[in-house]
Amino acid sequence: MSEVENVVIIGSGPAGWTSAIYAARADLKPLVFVGVPKSQPSIVLPGGQLMLTTEVENYPGFPDGITGPEMMQAFQKQAERFGTRSCGEDIVSCDFSEKPFKLETSKGKTVLANSVIIATGATANWLGLENEMRLAQTGGGVSACAVCDGALPAFRDQPLAVVGGGDSALEEASYLTKFASKVYVIHRRDEFRASKAMQKRIFDAPNAEPLWNKTVVDVLGDDVITGVRLEDTVTGEESILDLRGLFIAIGHTPTTSFLKDSGLELDQANYIKLRSRSSKTNIEGVFAAGDVADSVYRQAISAAGMGCQAALDAEHYISSLND
Ligand code: NAP
Repeated sequence: MSEVENVVIIGSGPAGWTSAIYAARADLKPLVFVGVPKSQPSIVLPGGQLMLTTEVENYPGFPDGITGPEMMQAFQKQAERFGTRSCGEDIVSCDFSEKPFKLETSKGKTVLANSVIIATGATANWLGLENEMRLAQTGGGVSACAVCDGALPAFRDQPLAVVGGGDSALEEASYLTKFASKVYVIHRRDEFRASKAMQKRIFDAPNAEPLWNKTVVDVLGDDVITGVRLEDTVTGEESILDLRGLFIAIGHTPTTSFLKDSGLELDQANYIKLRSRSSKTNIEGVFAAGDVADSVYRQAISAAGMGCQAALDAEHYISSLND
């Protein structure tokens, strides 16, 4: 690939494909690096985090819901309809020091680009237990997003638990109290890290209960979760807690390690810093969209909106090059 691409999009979740739809319709012929298919080690997960979700019920336009993978297939098809090209590789490093930008692919090729949209997302952190991952991938009642999955009928009036003690965990727990019979907050210490206001919401909720000094050491259940095995972090004592849903909220890791030494400005938690109310980064011609630049909302719909903004910003930037 020696010619210079107008727009290279890195990542293939809602942000990546939405920016591709807009860029393709603007006749910019975007090239999307979707990531390496599942069986191989990959920097980005092809299709993004929605590939790990079963039912998506909160994306407007799908009154009967849609599965995450089906939704991502539809996004891709729509982007390709307008001439988007895609490549099943990762971008492993970026040189933004001169223009055109130089991107190195996982197969050792160099791609030249006038503009780049980074939409590599963020990965939810998991406890790393075998049964946790199995039940998360099969829709067996384990999830890393209560706002995405918590309102599903299977969780209504059931005992649920959230793991974590930060703002995300307490926000998710508070959300779940609206329809669960009981919400346990399993935390490894005896005080929450979350803000006092968020803590108050949990302490005030009649159906929420913190479980202090506890870690989940196993998730129980064959097809669906039936409970968890807990270990007390002080006494080492084990116990079983009956549950019908488990939500892991122990933080996210933005996919930005491949940007090391690129000069792109990241915040303290390694999310890409954006100039306010735009998708622009500190490097002219480099834009970011979706969870990689959003530690707060992290929803498919907000990522798609950011993808739209990034494509419009990239389009303006490319036209300014031709003026
Ligand atoms: P966080 O603040 O890093 O909290 C992660 C929590 O998970 C901590 O309580 C931590 O325990 C626990 N944890 C981490 N690894 C664990 C493990 N392996 N096993 C068990 N527990 C583990 O992450 P976050 O809650 O996602 O928040 C991220 C940022 O977004 C924060 O700055 C937060 O304030 C912000 N945020 C704000 C809002 C809001 O204002 N509405 C909502 C959500 C997030 P320890 O406490 O023991 O370390």
